[in-house]
Amino acid sequence: MAVEVPCSQCGNKCSVPDNMAGGIYTCAACKKAQEQARQAQAPPSSVSPFSALAASAASAAASAAMKAIQNASTAAKASMARRLRWRLKRLLQPARR
Ligand SMILES: [Zn+2]
Repeated sequence: MAVEVPCSQCGNKCSVPDNMAGGIYTCAACKKAQEQARQAQAPPSSVSPFSALAASAASAAASAAMKAIQNASTAAKASMARRLRWRLKRLLQPARR
């Protein structure tokens, strides 16, 4: 999906992917990078609310998965550290006597 946004410099209609809405795009005619307005100059029907929803759902799922991985690795590290400390204790004890 792409939306057409008139260039603020030269008026040329720029085709911008709608996932770039609010981002930076470069005008093909005047080669000026510019910030796209949050409200793209396109009829609302051409902007799918579902794609935005899907994108936010996907990023939410990705961040949840990332958090789960971080928590898991933290837990794994903690239990490994506990085990290592326990082994270290057992290794050191006979030497202390
Ligand atoms: Zn332009």
